[in-house]
Amino acid sequence: MNCTGLSQNAILDRLKESGCRITAPRKALVASLAESHTPQSVIELHAAANKRIGTPTDPEPVNLVTAYRFVNLLETQGLARRIDFAQGYARYEPTHPDDAHHHHHIVCDQCGKVEPFDDCDVDELSARIEARSGFVVMRHQLELYGKCADCSREP
Ligand SMILES: [Zn+2]
Ligand SMILES: [Zn+2]
Ligand SMILES: [Zn+2]
Repeated sequence: MNCTGLSQNAILDRLKESGCRITAPRKALVASLAESHTPQSVIELHAAANKRIGTPTDPEPVNLVTAYRFVNLLETQGLARRIDFAQGYARYEPTHPDDAHHHHHIVCDQCGKVEPFDDCDVDELSARIEARSGFVVMRHQLELYGKCADCSREP
């Protein structure tokens, strides 16, 4: 189980369909997002995109403000999912095309390691809350926090 979702090409196609220009920095940011195995911050996506297309004469072709704006655009287009781990900044992963196969994350409070899991038990809880509250549950959000195996081992 990992955080992969829409492929690089699927995201680029959807952007083109909605009339967005595909520049080299945008392409590099999409590639970095699509290939990451855990949710990435914009700072990390920005660094990965620069590593991808930077040259000795222009090591930083992707502007950080551009990266923030573009990732925000991906989110509003439904191509990237924003996840808030309460770390002071958001993280992003590609949207999964099939919502029935959604997943959640467990996060290490000490080192920040993130692992996805997809055995989600929220349906039962939702049914109980619906019966009690009269609400219809449409979506849910769940992140677990703790100490990873490596951090637990340390004295
Ligand atoms: Zn994920
Ligand atoms: Zn840890
Ligand atoms: Zn769930």
